[in-house]
Amino acid sequence: MKNLYTSTRNNTIELSAKAAIKKGFADDKGLFVLPNIEDINIDIKNLTELSYQDIAALVLKNLLPDFNAKEISSSISNAYSNSFDDDKITPVVSVGNFHVLELFHGPTAAFKDVGLQLLPQLMTHVLDAGNQVMILTATSGDTGKAALEGFKDQPNMGITVFYPHGGVSKVQQLQMATTGGKNTKVVAIEGNFDDAQTNVKQLFNDKKLKQAIGENVSLSSANSINIGRLIPQVVYYFDSYKQLVNQGAVKLGDPVNFTVPTGNFGDVLAGYYAKMMGLPVDKFVVAANENKVLADFFTNGTYDRNRPFFKTVAPSMDIQISSNFERLLYYKSGQDSKYVANLMSQLETEGKYQVSQAVLDSIKEDFYFGYSINDDIEASIQDTYSEHNYLMDPHTAAGYKVMRDYQQIDSETPMVLLSTASPYKFVGAVNDAIHVSNSDDPQQMMADINQKTKVAIPENLKSVWSLPIKHKDVIEKADMENYVLAKVKEVFDDKD
Ligand SMILES: *Cc1c(COP(=O)(O)O)cnc(C)c1O
Repeated sequence: MKNLYTSTRNNTIELSAKAAIKKGFADDKGLFVLPNIEDINIDIKNLTELSYQDIAALVLKNLLPDFNAKEISSSISNAYSNSFDDDKITPVVSVGNFHVLELFHGPTAAFKDVGLQLLPQLMTHVLDAGNQVMILTATSGDTGKAALEGFKDQPNMGITVFYPHGGVSKVQQLQMATTGGKNTKVVAIEGNFDDAQTNVKQLFNDKKLKQAIGENVSLSSANSINIGRLIPQVVYYFDSYKQLVNQGAVKLGDPVNFTVPTGNFGDVLAGYYAKMMGLPVDKFVVAANENKVLADFFTNGTYDRNRPFFKTVAPSMDIQISSNFERLLYYKSGQDSKYVANLMSQLETEGKYQVSQAVLDSIKEDFYFGYSINDDIEASIQDTYSEHNYLMDPHTAAGYKVMRDYQQIDSETPMVLLSTASPYKFVGAVNDAIHVSNSDDPQQMMADINQKTKVAIPENLKSVWSLPIKHKDVIEKADMENYVLAKVKEVFDDKD
């Protein structure tokens, strides 16, 4: 029983991990979850000698029980053998009295690579012979490129990425628009990220579209609502703990805290999975930007998205509907799928819901929420650079300030700040903080920041300026369905 996934909105559903990865999310619009994760126990004593890849195998074996050992090991080795520029995959570096878990050493310089290098490999073992899958992804900037790189030229798979027109950084936009490969499609939509995400979710439930694309092609998701993307992120929580123990910074068994900049709540939820599986964590400190729906929830238990939407200097966190929060509600309500379904239907109809005091209290046992406005983010980039000679991207910096707030409450427990992107993906915001370039051309800024700070530019970002532009489409929200249909035909009919 406990080896099967169910839906956050209907716990009578049962399906294998493979089926859950193939489908992306449930027909009732719920997310797939594994009940009783707390019964899994990864013994941290055994971690110290293991490589990142070994720990990944251990985590995947437990959370994806219907994959066999060979499928897991080949997926992991294909995903992580050559694509990261650091042997540790996700190295931990110490800065002042905290530690930074650097998640940006993959092929697109954002933490999304950790999940999105592995998801297509897992997908290979999920597709039946003769079946094809079109991945549909809404992106606030980083998921798009990371998913494109992961799925590019994978046999029997195609990918279509939707991003908010004008809502991503120049570097992010170029990264996506220059993607090669025969099966990759990229399009800007007139709307913000939440519009894109909501519409993509609708496409998955669109019967007319399903009929038009035929039985052999399925639609799936590369967002962190897909367990095949979420579960790889559990690994670096265990691995970072191992690194801290091996560096002598933490005594084996002692708790640590993690600060996580959040958008869709996927990254930090993966940490909570690790905690449920036995990792000694005291608190997860969750940081939002000015779109602080979750920080407000923390004060009064009301999740309310009826509010103005802000475009901030940390655009990958410009989100008002944190999809994965639904999974936390499932676990924190005692796996009460009726309760979750009811909250989610209120969110859909009224744009808000209120949780019970018991659920809020239970969340507060494990989480602390805060936020940074743009000025805080700038000040944080500036402070860590001038005080510690460490250059942060604006998302990581949004976490930094909230981390400092929390350290006023607990200064003893070792603190790990997750760094989610290279500073070179967001040169405008970084330069506004440290003022090393007089140019307003992002390419020049990148060169000036490099020259002044001596922080290396990731190879994949250096090359972005000279690659040919391959994707220029801009469409209205209402045209997404037709667009997908056309792209399914282009990608899969070519091959006959
Ligand atoms: C996606 C992203 C986030 C937010 O992560 P979630 O899993 O959506 O909470 C934070 N920072 C960067 C740079 C990102 O790309």
